[in-house]
Amino acid sequence: MTNNTFSSLNLAAPLLGAVEQYEAPTPVQAAAIPCVLKGGDVLAIAPTGSGKTTAFVLPLLEHWISSRRHTPRRVHSLILVPTRELAAQVRDVVRQLSLRVPERIKIVSAVGGVSINPQMMALRGGADFIVATPGRLLDLVERNAVTLSRVSSLVLDEADRMLDLGFAEELARVLKLLPERRQNLLFSATFPPAVEAMAQDLLRDATRIEIEPDPLDETAIHQRAIRVDTDKRNPLLRHLIGTEGWKRVLVFVAKQYTADHVAEKLRRHGINALSFHGDLSQGARRDALADFKNSSVQVLVATDLAARGIDIMRLPVIVNFDLPRSAVDYTHRIGRTGRAGEAGVAISFVTAESHAHFCLIEKRQQLNLPREQIAGFEPVELPAPPQPGAGGIKGRRKSKKDKLREAAAREKRLRGE
Ligand code: AMP
Repeated sequence: MTNNTFSSLNLAAPLLGAVEQYEAPTPVQAAAIPCVLKGGDVLAIAPTGSGKTTAFVLPLLEHWISSRRHTPRRVHSLILVPTRELAAQVRDVVRQLSLRVPERIKIVSAVGGVSINPQMMALRGGADFIVATPGRLLDLVERNAVTLSRVSSLVLDEADRMLDLGFAEELARVLKLLPERRQNLLFSATFPPAVEAMAQDLLRDATRIEIEPDPLDETAIHQRAIRVDTDKRNPLLRHLIGTEGWKRVLVFVAKQYTADHVAEKLRRHGINALSFHGDLSQGARRDALADFKNSSVQVLVATDLAARGIDIMRLPVIVNFDLPRSAVDYTHRIGRTGRAGEAGVAISFVTAESHAHFCLIEKRQQLNLPREQIAGFEPVELPAPPQPGAGGIKGRRKSKKDKLREAAAREKRLRGE
């Protein structure tokens, strides 16, 4: 049987109604939904923007609908994500897809950066679905606001990120709170070999689904590389915003300071820009992303905080003002554009200094992009010749939070906990 219609996927009528605006299941949905419905573990690797959230939410809702109700509610599905913004987005998808289900499904999002009290209140009487970042979830468990001992399904969205060092200790603590018998679902666009072993420890007889990007897809992301001198990147960015007529652009930088600085420079030239990074208050983060999504802000200058999972409809272009640290981060950054079958453009600024690093990213991505030069911004600095044996591509840049988490884990180990 082929799964090229939603109605062939054995989903209840209220769920079919919720996806009626979609023509057909995407390949990852067609492949993953039947496996998740069967109850087994799944590791799904599929391109950015290919509908992965719906691929795990629909069958989990189907499980919930067909399962016996429990009073008080027990947590049926626990979805762990790396950022607060992604938690809000996934919660909204669960809400959206469950709108026509007649029974009330209680969905709670548990994230840091905001007061814990409303989340404790929301968890009174239990919850059916929790979408959480691990740190806040553990805080809530410690305060006895929630128990996880009867979770049926665990989802790690952006699974490779959830399994990497930054979250390892918190994730291990969460796993200890879950029942042995449960379904594990791991979804991501990237799954580097370094996290494979950790995934295998977690999974049992998992079905592995790998969906390759369609090489013939003409709407796929058009990738460009522009050679420019380091100190000409700000004026070049302004020039491109003006000449290319971008209505909205997401600009990635390496540091929080750079995000503030580049956004400030754009504003000084009359361009409506905001920065977005982990040092802003949660309110400022939420407002910046919301203003960007509803087009009241033209340019969002962000760190890799915005690289994972965030779904911005009709975002035509992203710019790597600073290059990402790794090929994996490159995949996630450019994947903020060209989503759900739309066209997108991803431009990387390549300076003399970052040229060798970009060559390594290209190699990992099996790319060979022509180096463009923009009239008036021709580079004068020459890339250094490659150093024999020079260090390879770097891993993901550790965030301040990652470093704190690692330090806390080290301390715990030293204390023998
Ligand atoms: P995701 O990869 O889950 O973030 O989804 C990316 C985008 O694809 C979202 O805007 C979804 O609303 C959209 N989407 C999900 N499923 C489908 C589908 N079957 N057909 C078209 N678009 C979809």
